[in-house]
Amino acid sequence: MPLPLAELLSPALLDRVFARIDASREDMVGLARDLIRIPTVNPPGDAYTPCAELIGNRLRPRGFAVQYKRGEGTQGDNDRYPRTNVIARVEGNRPGPCVHFNGHIDVVDPGHGWTVDPFAGVVRDGRLYGRGSCDMKGGLAAAIVAVEAILDERLPFHGALEISGTVDEETGGFGGVAFLARQGFFSKPRVDHVIIPEPLQVDRVCLGHRGVWWAEVEMRGRVGHGSMPFLGVSAIRGMGRFLSLVEQELHPKLDARRTRMPVEPPGARASTLNWNSIHGGLAEGYEGVPSPLVADSCRLVLDRRFLIEEDIEAVKAEVVELLERVKQERAGLGYTLRDIVVFHPTMAAPDAPVVQALDASILQVLGRPAQHIASPGTYDQKHVSRIGHLQDCVAYGPGLLEQAHQPDEFVIIDDMVASAKVMAAAALRLLASS
Ligand SMILES: [Zn+2]
Repeated sequence: MPLPLAELLSPALLDRVFARIDASREDMVGLARDLIRIPTVNPPGDAYTPCAELIGNRLRPRGFAVQYKRGEGTQGDNDRYPRTNVIARVEGNRPGPCVHFNGHIDVVDPGHGWTVDPFAGVVRDGRLYGRGSCDMKGGLAAAIVAVEAILDERLPFHGALEISGTVDEETGGFGGVAFLARQGFFSKPRVDHVIIPEPLQVDRVCLGHRGVWWAEVEMRGRVGHGSMPFLGVSAIRGMGRFLSLVEQELHPKLDARRTRMPVEPPGARASTLNWNSIHGGLAEGYEGVPSPLVADSCRLVLDRRFLIEEDIEAVKAEVVELLERVKQERAGLGYTLRDIVVFHPTMAAPDAPVVQALDASILQVLGRPAQHIASPGTYDQKHVSRIGHLQDCVAYGPGLLEQAHQPDEFVIIDDMVASAKVMAAAALRLLASS
């Protein structure tokens, strides 16, 4: 029998775990800083191996079984940029449920506009600055310290605790969580509950995310002399017609569609469509005077975010319908539509065990009720639910989503500490509950 719930969750015991986390504050910041100092910029996916090893080398002496799994053959994987993931597992006294904390170790390019070194891990005014501090090395460090605090209390828990540091989340997670999920790392019976400490704020539980469809549309016409455009077929005009049909007919429909998912900000509770890029005619960057040509090609990349209530085939069909109409209207015009990526929406049930455990722990640590949200953008939860078939998975972690990918990205250190307490308490609840 597992330790009775009352005992594992006794106020005195939780207070001891919380005290350990408070005492580990500097260590937690140091760990996050060490992670930030390894510039795991993706693309191309740099320095994954030393970053994974930093996590493995920390956890192995504490009794974790550590495995490194390279996402061999996945997008971007090669000997220069190996997709190195780390999975660490520690067993309790007896078999039981497994609680897994998953953080991605990759970060986006720092870009411009920083007033501090993005890879130094500067601490100032209670904040830790650096690329990845918020998204999401700060959350990963908090999860690691939370699990260590449970182990240091030498609680006779039943089940297992796991921590993984995975790659490529920023580019779809193919070499990271998707790869590992295919090998059973995110499925029962190995794992029962997954918490992803993405920066969704200390008092919010993120149940899931909307879907993504990226595609390239190419409009094809016929080249002609710019002085006699009637002799060619302009792919740019064709694309212009498509864009105006989308503006007049599709956008109003998308704006009117609403999801039951509690997406934040609320503007993202509608379906959305963005043009990532558009290009037609002469190649960009030509020298001198441009040639007078009727463009025979115009390409754009669309970014459609769809709702859990929408079907991907219907989402595609309403774009195809408008493209077909443009094609019918203009002789000599054609198009191609190429999928770049499809990620389906996912959402944990609001009464799922991991959600309830986090709700109760947020109330306990912060003294206010948890808010349930969903993310406008995608993250690795889709791979856990769709490949691993594990629905008891959410995102919960410190930091503000608005900080992610920004110059001077930071995480508030008090939030890291509070979220570590919430994660520790939630893990104990989940271990005690089955
Ligand atoms: Zn992230």
